[in-house]
Amino acid sequence: MFHRVFTLGQLQCNASLLGDEETREALVIDPGEDPRTLIDAIEEGDWRVKEILFTHAHIDHVAGAAEVQRRTGAPVAMHAADLGLYDSLPEQATWIGMPTPERVEIAHWLEEGEEIECGSLRLKVLFTPGHAPGHVSFYLAEQGMILSADVLFRASIGRTDLPGGNHPRLIESIRTKLLTLPDETRVIAGHGPATTIGLERRTNPFLVGVAV
Ligand SMILES: [Zn+2]
Ligand SMILES: [Zn+2]
Repeated sequence: MFHRVFTLGQLQCNASLLGDEETREALVIDPGEDPRTLIDAIEEGDWRVKEILFTHAHIDHVAGAAEVQRRTGAPVAMHAADLGLYDSLPEQATWIGMPTPERVEIAHWLEEGEEIECGSLRLKVLFTPGHAPGHVSFYLAEQGMILSADVLFRASIGRTDLPGGNHPRLIESIRTKLLTLPDETRVIAGHGPATTIGLERRTNPFLVGVAV
């Protein structure tokens, strides 16, 4: 498996390019804001991007979607419960003082338990709401890796004070969908460094009393 993280834009969102090195098929998870380095890597690697997946519809994760789509022709997927958040991109843009990003058509509505194929890679969609109402995480069981975006960070968890946030729901998502994974599972967070489920289970201050 090929995997590279690109830290993009003013909010330093982690975008991922995942690919099968045999078939040269790839997926973009969260195209981020200002995705030039990501697009360069797609072109240099001659990757055929099958799909652009949104973990959730916050502007720092999706602003670059139209540009990545123009360069790759790939369709875009997200969970339907984040449509309201996606519709609020103009408001999100004013909060952080950036122009409203170009909207893309959503071609595929992600659902809990669904499997996305990319060459030999299998990504299982886990519905992990709380930070955003339609937040999903992508789990690669064979590779022992989860892309958890803004659900779980190194020593922190996603904020729930933005519109659509729900703290008890976030904790429930972490408890039932993430902490049930093997300790050695590598966690690719939406911001900041990678971690593992085991490290967060033992040391994350926000999971005291949640992790067992
Ligand atoms: Zn977010
Ligand atoms: Zn974020």
